Amino acid sequence: MKREFAVIGLGRFGGSICKELSEEGMEVLAIDTEEDKVNEYKNIASHAVIADATDEKVLKELGIRNIDHVIVAIGDNIQASILTTLMLKELGINKITVKAQNDYHEKVLKKIGADQVVHPERDMGRRIAHSIISNNILDHLELSDDHSIVEVKAGKKMIGQTLVDLDIRANYGCNVVAIKQEQNNEINVSPMATETIDSGDILIVIGADKDISRFEKYLV
Ligand code: ADP
Repeated sequence: MKREFAVIGLGRFGGSICKELSEEGMEVLAIDTEEDKVNEYKNIASHAVIADATDEKVLKELGIRNIDHVIVAIGDNIQASILTTLMLKELGINKITVKAQNDYHEKVLKKIGADQVVHPERDMGRRIAHSIISNNILDHLELSDDHSIVEVKAGKKMIGQTLVDLDIRANYGCNVVAIKQEQNNEINVSPMATETIDSGDILIVIGADKDISRFEKYLV
């Protein structure tokens, strides 16, 4: 079943969401105030229109009420982003995702009822910083301000040991939720305590950031 989306603001972030959703076969209404941006997405999105999303009348005319999920990807213009989100909320949109520029912007967006607030630059910066610090950290996903999931290459100290031997939960307070095994190219979800870690294995670890840091420091 095709789901309907609208993307407001076709900069690098909104544009990439629009492309990806369209490539996945979704119906996407792409909106931007700039004609050249809209032209760029004419052949990609289901519909691409030049419109100012801060104009309530325009939003109504575009039939935005019938759209399931709207992504507000207006860049630097925080006022326009807030106003658009507020109007979408008042129009009763089911799900609204908004790109925030900073923490204050996020606070306001949450207060007025945005369902999901994202900080793509900040989050990507953090993920890259973690992989720069340690060559073995392949990815880092923030779950909250102080909890994360990390993907780590098995360090020398782990190879040949079982999860029981390492006792990661007791020693570091984190949980190994899955192991990607290089040998058979499989993902072992909820591995047994007796599972031996081989060279090339990748561990998916969940925990508080301070515990993950200790785990990284001593085992990775
Ligand atoms: P990014 O950092 O993702 O590249 P930009 O700031 O470059 O973000 O892009 C934001 C886009 O949002 C621009 O293409 C801009 O024309 C568009 N935009 C800004 N205000 C509005 C508005 N009121 N209605 C629709 N589109 C808007």
